[in-house]
Amino acid sequence: MTDLATQLARLDYHLARFRDHGILNLIGGQDVAGSDWFETRSPVDDSLIARVALGTAETVDQAAAAARAAFPAWAALPGAQRKAILHRIADGIEARAEEIALCECWDTGQAWRFMSKAALRGAENFRFFADLAPGARDGQSLPSPDHLNITSRHPIGPVGVITPWNTPFMLSTWKIAPALAAGCTVVHKPAEFSPLTARLLAEICHEAGLPPGVLNLVNGMGEGAGKALTEHPDIKAIAFVGESRTGSQIMKQGADTLKRVHFELGGKNPVLVFEDADLDRALDAVIFMIYSLNGERCTSSSRLLVQDSIAEDFHARLIQRVNQIKVGHPLDPATEIGPLIHQTHFEKVARYVAIGQAEGATLAAGGNRVGENGWFIRPTLFTDARPDMRIAQEEVFGPFLTSLRFRDEDEALAIANGVAYGLTGYVWTNDLTRALRISDRLEAGMIWVNSENVRHLPTPFGGVKASGIGRDGGDWSFEFYMETKNTAFALGQHKMQRLGV
Ligand code: NAD
Repeated sequence: MTDLATQLARLDYHLARFRDHGILNLIGGQDVAGSDWFETRSPVDDSLIARVALGTAETVDQAAAAARAAFPAWAALPGAQRKAILHRIADGIEARAEEIALCECWDTGQAWRFMSKAALRGAENFRFFADLAPGARDGQSLPSPDHLNITSRHPIGPVGVITPWNTPFMLSTWKIAPALAAGCTVVHKPAEFSPLTARLLAEICHEAGLPPGVLNLVNGMGEGAGKALTEHPDIKAIAFVGESRTGSQIMKQGADTLKRVHFELGGKNPVLVFEDADLDRALDAVIFMIYSLNGERCTSSSRLLVQDSIAEDFHARLIQRVNQIKVGHPLDPATEIGPLIHQTHFEKVARYVAIGQAEGATLAAGGNRVGENGWFIRPTLFTDARPDMRIAQEEVFGPFLTSLRFRDEDEALAIANGVAYGLTGYVWTNDLTRALRISDRLEAGMIWVNSENVRHLPTPFGGVKASGIGRDGGDWSFEFYMETKNTAFALGQHKMQRLGV
């Protein structure tokens, strides 16, 4: 049994080298300082964790050159050898899972109970794509009367991976593992608010025998290193996870170099609870899917759509449970919600509490700051909201649930689809044909019926509308990181077309 004091002692041990030497970039297998430093601070008490080497356009240039130089050999390596290296990376992640989770909690404010699993999910991502590596280049044979057409796939080249600060380790592996399995080399620009575990991942890859230059780490700001990466001519594609607005900027920045882009963006995901649902299970799922991971989760169900006939009772039970959620130190195993990532994000969430009240929705739970040092807020619930309110339309990205009522299926669908986003949807009903009707008409890339978000790595992951472009998971990831080539072989002496005879 571990307690907070033990956790803090272990964290202190792991952080000592970052405190002493800062967090450096890793380019071509070498530590590289930046032109300057920036700070990463803990959301628990705003204390300094470490200085971080600030990457600039020059640093990105250096990293892109390393990725370009490493590309031919890595792309040509037999898939079975890439598979072996990726499995060794997964071994390395598992061996350092505790260190990763401790650093992630301290850097992001996410609770230990979730982060200890998230580190291991990073290893799962590497194992899953490791096993697909030997078949990544496989193609099809498409015979025509005169030709045998053979398709083959080839890694697109060096790619840029730009990640956000929520569950940064897991999300980085979700992008980097398939890119490496496909034979691409990578320049990774992690979020400036949470750089710790990206450095750990780069070290683990290096120690596992990933050749120098195959994965390069450049820390820095979005408008600095991030922008330079999206504009670099040697970087053939950008896999980006972050806000919809940033995605649109990246698309503009990448236009001159015709960058291929893959976007996993924001969400305002609905959970629809019908009167015929298993309401006990639905209640658990509603609470888990908005208040786990601090609500800083793209797939969170931030809009509850509940049928009128059960709304009073459902809300009463919901309020009681929300008021019992434990807000506390992220490294305390008992904590359910830790502090929000950063002061600016805390202020954004607090601003939406004020907006909800001004709009006339009922603040049924939470909304208040906890303590004075860190960025803690009580889990928040607004009931009796209207679909046109900002708290029902805009992504808050915190432990913040907006509840709306509906009378029938048509109204539920109109509300659910009446936002700019379309990442996930959750449907609770015991009527099978209703579940089919609703899921068919819901505008979302991923839908769970009578369940919470449970990932299955071979399935497609991604959103529609302002929630993204493209899909990850299984072979969909390779579609992005690879080019498909068709070669036509003549089968015989078919009649040639002749000019100038
Ligand atoms: P953000 O868009 O502010 O930043 C994400 C990354 O982009 C950071 O590394 C940042 O430095 C970089 N960046 C910023 N401006 C850039 C620019 N002009 N050019 C290149 N890079 C730039 O997002 P965030 O606040 O870090 O993350 C939260 C957002 O991410 C939420 O909207 C959330 O829904 C979304 N998200 C989506 C998914 C998904 O799978 N759909 C998963 C996790 C998070």
